[in-house]
Amino acid sequence: MAEKLLEIENLSVEYNTEIATVYAVNGLSLSLNYGETLGLVGETGAGKTTTCLSIMRLLPEGIGDVTEGKITLDGNDMLALPEEKVRELRGNTVSMIFQDPMSSLNPVMTVGDQIKEVLKIHNRSMSKDELDKAVDNMMELVGIPANRKNEYPHEFSGGMKQRIVIAIALVCEPKLILADEPTTALDVTIQAQMLGLINDLQKRLNTAMILVTHDLGVVAQTCEKVAVMYAGEAVEIGQAEHIFGGKYLHPYTQGLFNAIPKLDEDTPRLETIEGMIPDPTVKIEGCRFADRCRHATEACRKAPRMVEVEKGHYIRCHLFGNKRE
Ligand code: SF4
Repeated sequence: MAEKLLEIENLSVEYNTEIATVYAVNGLSLSLNYGETLGLVGETGAGKTTTCLSIMRLLPEGIGDVTEGKITLDGNDMLALPEEKVRELRGNTVSMIFQDPMSSLNPVMTVGDQIKEVLKIHNRSMSKDELDKAVDNMMELVGIPANRKNEYPHEFSGGMKQRIVIAIALVCEPKLILADEPTTALDVTIQAQMLGLINDLQKRLNTAMILVTHDLGVVAQTCEKVAVMYAGEAVEIGQAEHIFGGKYLHPYTQGLFNAIPKLDEDTPRLETIEGMIPDPTVKIEGCRFADRCRHATEACRKAPRMVEVEKGHYIRCHLFGNKRE
C-alpha cells in the first residue's frame, strides 16, 4: 500500500524555559507510508525524540510548543484535534516505545494489568475473559510465558521489561509505532533479539515504524527509508539503498559513516566529526553544519534548501544545489 500514513510539514518546535528558548526542531518535513519503516538518525540533540513527542502530542505542557507546521496522521490533523480525540488515537493508531523500560513501566502494577489497561481503554466492549486472553496472547507473542502476567516489573530482567513495553505498545495493533532508541538500555545480545522481535511483529501486523537511533548499523538491518537529522532539521532523506549505496551523501552523513570502524581496514585512529552540534538556543541563518563541515564555503552562510539528487533521495547542502536542474 503506497498511501501516506504520516505527513509532517514544515514542523518547528521550541522549548521555552526561564533561562532560554531552545529551538529543538526547525522546519522538518517528512512522510511515511502505511507499513513502512523509517530510521530517524542523528546525534543527541538533533530533535529526533521531540519529533516523536510532537506526533504523539506529548510535548511537556507549558514548555514544549509547536510554533509552526502540520502533522497529519491517518487523515487526522494531529495539532488541531481536541485532546480527547488525541487520547483515542494514542495506543490505538500510534504508540511509542520509550528508551528506558525501567522508567516506562509502573512498578506497583503487575505487567499483565499494564497490558490490559491499554486494551480496556480502547476496547470497552471486551469481556474480562477476552481481555485476559488477549493479554496472554500478547505476552506469548513477545516471548514471555503468559503465566508470569501477575508478576511486577522488578521481577523481570531488562530485556524482558523491554518486551513488556513492546507488548503494551503493540497490543491494540497501532498503525504506527514510534520506537525511541528501543535497544539503547539493553546489552548487545539482547539488542539483536529485540530488533528481530520488533521487526517480526511489525511485519506480521503491517505496522509502520519510525525507529529513532544513532546507530546506522541498526538502521541498515531494519529500515526501508532513512532520515538523517542534524540540529533540528532533516539534512538527508532517502531509501536505505540511497544512504547505504552512497552515490551522493550529505557531508554530515558521510562523517557518520567515516566514524564507523571497518573490519577489513587497519585504522590506528577512528575519524570523528570535529566540533559540536550548534547551541540550540541560537537561531542560525546559514547551513547548521557549516562550523563542522570541511566543504564549507562562503555560499554556506545562506541556508541550503532540500534538493532531490536522485528519485526519492533528498539532500540539504549547497554542494548539490544544482542537481535538480
Ligand atoms: Fe557543508 Fe556547505 Fe553543504 Fe553545509 S551547505 S553541508 S557547510 S557544504
